Parts: sequence; structure tokens; C-alpha cells
Amino acid sequence: MNYVVVSRGDDDSNRMMHTFHHLAGIRGMTLNPEEPDIVISIGGDGTMLQAFHLYVHRLDRTSFVGIHTGHLGFFADWKAIELEQLIECVASSTPDNGMRQVHYPLVELEIVTSQGTRTHLALNEFTLKGVESTLVAQININDDLFEKFRGDGICISTPIGSTAYNKSLGGALLHPSLDVLQIAEIASINNRVYRTLGSSMVLPKHHHCDITPRPGQNLLLTLDHISEQRRDILSIRSRVSTQKISFARYRPFPFWRRVREAFLGYETNPDG
Ligand code: NAP
Ligand code: MN
Repeated sequence: MNYVVVSRGDDDSNRMMHTFHHLAGIRGMTLNPEEPDIVISIGGDGTMLQAFHLYVHRLDRTSFVGIHTGHLGFFADWKAIELEQLIECVASSTPDNGMRQVHYPLVELEIVTSQGTRTHLALNEFTLKGVESTLVAQININDDLFEKFRGDGICISTPIGSTAYNKSLGGALLHPSLDVLQIAEIASINNRVYRTLGSSMVLPKHHHCDITPRPGQNLLLTLDHISEQRRDILSIRSRVSTQKISFARYRPFPFWRRVREAFLGYETNPDG
């Protein structure tokens, strides 16, 4: 079993990374940052986003697992004190002998600029926002004009990302077994000229959405934790990717329980 650890970089996470290397060595696991079968993220959800983008080129051959060194995370579900138990699980299962995995959908975006087309995958979401002024853009769904948007921006998220930025925008929480993407507005302006739906929309697989910004605007494009400013974006097409992320799951931790524990704080039934 080839593995790699991605640490948030704080003292706690680094200490745990060293312990992991030590115990993994004893269990016969091989540190292989080039071709890991499993990527261990130690830190928070942001650390998993980093791990995802480091190994996005080998999603079909790699699964991910997260240990949290802060509060409970959506991606990081093992606690520091469970380290030995986790290593036991990782070391005794391989992709061939039935390592249990869950596969979650990703958003694919195709950014067209005068330089050509680039494709990216998002684990949580991508957003397009205006920098000095509002974003003005036409939105097409499946090549039909849908709306003319003016406002702070647009957020297109995955189901697993629905609990992140999307939630702050009033979007719905979507179970990650759904192969869909969600379009949420960021502070849209509505008047006679610019009229948007106002509600979030959920698009199934095989549908696509094109955002065509008015040319020449200074725009901020964010992809999970990464962001860049660009003036040359001609259009962005998004759809549910045919690729998925695989998480190694050695014990059940249902999505709705994560939601309850993260947002409502109940560890157990409040009446129980
Ligand atoms: P950050 O500022 O630390 O992230 C903001 C918060 O989102 C953190 O508490 C982070 O958890 C949490 N988070 C990340 N992914 C999540 C998920 N799938 N479900 C629930 N919570 C999640 O920055 P970061 O750690 O680099 O994460 C980047 C993400 O921040 C973006 O993908 C975006 O979703 C989110 N964000 C949210 C807002 C907003 O809600 N207004 C604005 C910008 C960005 P950890 O502390 O465990 O990392
Ligand atoms: Mn973070």
C-alpha cells in the first residue's frame, strides 16, 4: 500500500504526520508521494481541498481519507486519538482486497479565454465574481439563454460542497449520492434589465451551464481554496464531471449525521 500524507502544516498536524509515518512504516506501508494508493489529509476541510488538487491527476487510482486536528470536518472524519485504529484499517485493506470506498461527484469547468481552453475539477465549488464592479454575465443552460445576471457573482458547487460556500448563499444541502451540480447566486441585482431567477438550481448529469461575462471585466475566479484574477475570460462551461473522488470509508459516517453535528451541534439525539 503506497501512501502519502498532506498536513495543514501547524505543529499538531505535523506531529501527527510524523507519528503516522512511524506507525505506517511498522505496518509495511510505503511512503510514495508520486503514486499513492491513499492520500491521508491531516488538518481540516481546507487541507483535503489541497490534497485533492495535488492528486487530481490520478483520481482513478487514489482514494482519500481525512484526520481532523481542529473541529469536526466534512472531509476529515477521523480524530487524532484514533490514529492507530485508522492505520490498522488502511494497512489491512488494499484496493484489490475490497477497501470500502464512497465516490462523490465533482464539477468540471471549461474556461475559454483568448489563449485557449483549460479544464479544471472542483471538489467544493467554483465561483466567478466581479472585482471592481459587479459581474455582468449571460447564463445559458443547455445552449438556451436562461438569464442576464448582474450581481456579485455565481457559485457552482458539488453536492459535497453544498455545505460550504453554497450554504452561506442559501443554497440547498444535497446528498453526495446525487450526480448533480448546484448554481447559486451571490447577491444578484434585479430590475427591468437584469432579472435572475433568485432561487438556486440543481442540474443533473449531461446538462451544462455556460456563463458568458461581458468582455473586459476584471473577474475573480475561485476554484475551491485557489483564486485568480482574470480579464480575458470569454466563457465558462460547467457540468457534472465523469470523474469522481473516492474516499476510503472504514466505518459509516452518514452525511446527514455530519450535517447535524457540524451545524446543529448535537452529537446525539437532543431528546435522548
Ligand atoms: P476557509 O476560509 O478556512 O474555509 C471556510 C470554512 O469552510 C472553513 O470552516 C472550512 O473548514 C469550511 N469548509 C470547507 N469545505 C467545506 C465543506 N465541503 N463543507 C463544510 N464546510 C467546509 O478556507 P479553506 O479551508 O481554504 O476552504 C475553502 C472553502 O471555503 C471554499 O471551497 C468555500 O467553500 C469556502 N468559502 C466559504 C465562504 C462563505 O461561506 N462565505 C466564502 C469563501 C470560501 P476547515 O476550517 O476545516 O478548513
Ligand atoms: Mn480552512
